[in-house]
Amino acid sequence: MHPAAVNEPERAPSVATEATLAAVDFVAQVDASLRFCYVSAGSIEFLGYHRDYLSSLTLHELVPSHEIDELDALVARAQQSGKLETATLHLLKSLTTPILVELRIVATHTPDLPGFALAAFEVSQWRDREAALRHALNHDSLTGLENLTALKSALDAAQAEAIHTHTHAALLLVDIDDFQRINRALGYDAGDDMLRETARRIQHAARAGERVTRVASDEFAVLFSAGTSAEAATAAEDVARRVLSAIAQPYRYRGQHTHLSASIGAAIFPDEIEQDSSSLLRMADHALAQAKTSGGNIVVFHVPDDDPRNAERLNLEADLYEGVRNGEFSLHFQPITQSRGGGVVGVEALIRWQHPVHGLVPPTAFIPLAESIGLINYLGNWVLKAACMQLVQWDSEGFVLDYVSVNVSPQQFRDKRFTQNVKEALQLTGLDPSRLVFEITESLLMHDPEEATRLLETLAALGIAFAVDDFGTGYSSLSYLQRFPLSKLKIDRSFIENLLTSRNNQAIVAAVVGLAKSLGLELVAEGVETQAQRELLIEMGCDQIQGWLISKALPAGDLMRCFQDKTLFLQAPL
Ligand code: C2E
Ligand code: CA
Ligand code: CA
Repeated sequence: MHPAAVNEPERAPSVATEATLAAVDFVAQVDASLRFCYVSAGSIEFLGYHRDYLSSLTLHELVPSHEIDELDALVARAQQSGKLETATLHLLKSLTTPILVELRIVATHTPDLPGFALAAFEVSQWRDREAALRHALNHDSLTGLENLTALKSALDAAQAEAIHTHTHAALLLVDIDDFQRINRALGYDAGDDMLRETARRIQHAARAGERVTRVASDEFAVLFSAGTSAEAATAAEDVARRVLSAIAQPYRYRGQHTHLSASIGAAIFPDEIEQDSSSLLRMADHALAQAKTSGGNIVVFHVPDDDPRNAERLNLEADLYEGVRNGEFSLHFQPITQSRGGGVVGVEALIRWQHPVHGLVPPTAFIPLAESIGLINYLGNWVLKAACMQLVQWDSEGFVLDYVSVNVSPQQFRDKRFTQNVKEALQLTGLDPSRLVFEITESLLMHDPEEATRLLETLAALGIAFAVDDFGTGYSSLSYLQRFPLSKLKIDRSFIENLLTSRNNQAIVAAVVGLAKSLGLELVAEGVETQAQRELLIEMGCDQIQGWLISKALPAGDLMRCFQDKTLFLQAPL
């Protein structure tokens, strides 16, 4: 140890002030030529050199050659100012394994003792420490997920981004139903374990860009960018469905199986009413409270307070569950005919709900609701079986229709059990799969084209045909249509409605006819109400029509009577 520098207590603080703050790793004294006079024991250990060897070196030799100039400049500054000067430099740590360590050097010129006092700390370590601190502030120690603090700053950023890019941000608050039950029945260790598992599942269910946080003991959040206003609700429903089905899987704790369910409050920002910042959390919270009051295991979207639809929707929702229990649903069938000859080739199955008080509730009023609360899988599965069954029943009565067309919701389509359900329906009824058509929408295909292709190919391999429903209202690009195994396009009713008067609609229908022909797809025009529309469609080359001109959707028995009294006739087999 160099005697000159050992006892310099008055000078040490000037270096140590910053050094103490920064948890110093290296303290030393060098002479005017930067040769080491004093190095603390801890610093020797930190650098990894032998003390004798170090005393033979100058500071220049510990700095990589490209930083020598910077070191000299630092020394010159310290010399001139007589104050603390800092720079970020590298030191060569150890000779055998030279590792570059980033150091902040504080040099002070001490006039009575020619030379400099140095203190340094490893910046990378300091950064790690700072990062660890920040991590602790923004994370939850039980699950390792980000916490409410992190969510709040992420929310501000997400809302600002949504406004800036004219898109929407969505927030789901996921609350485990009656979680106290677990704590009571199995103890807090089990509770913690299941919360960790739930965190893992939600994170696993989330895709890139969907930010998962734990906001309270048994409450989680998923924040994501939900695209345009047309896409936002579907995007949010999709995430909610993934989260709910992840939580619905059985949990195991010490060999014991338990089930959890969750309620989700969903909010989309901005909506028509709430535009101010930090509203997402409030809106989602509000929706979550509603989800809880309606009994849990459900997704509720935030609807502004003063909106009467709010209460109506909640009522309808409870009724929908009741309706399922009481078997209030039935199917109507609408014929699809050859446009020229008029013979019926198939029927579209359309669901009907006979509400005990409101009477017949149209599907447009309850399908979106059934989708948002996860009932659509149940209903869709029922529709599928009932439709297949009906076709087989008609066969046995001597009315052999080519096919039955069934509407498939995106949620149903993305349900893992869908293929299995379809196979079951076919097996149960013995229907030839080539007599089953699924009507799907463009947005369903576009949501996850790879996954959609896989599923379509699996089902098409069974013999099932696919029709794109409401065609023309979505993306309509030739290149994407080609990649899916499709059989039909159903041109949306909105184009037919003003077909005779709108040149624009005529141009669209003409283009779709051309597209269908070039792709070898059958084309069905929906919503044909007049003979004039039918004639124009025939002229334009549209193969098949469906609409009130031919028949409304009817109960199976009524439809059969139309065949019997010859108001409808079957297309003769080709
Ligand atoms: P969609 O698939 O486009 O079904 C055609 C709708 O147009 C039916 O309404 C039908 O009654 C109506 N329609 C048929 N011809 C005419 C016409 O000439 N003029 C007019 N103005 N309307 C006509 P509906 O039965 O009320 O069904 C509405 C929507 O509900 C359906 O639209 C479909 O998206 C959905 N939906 C119906 N049943 C089911 C189902 O079982 N599952 C699913 N996922 N969705 C269904
Ligand atoms: Ca349809
Ligand atoms: Ca349609």
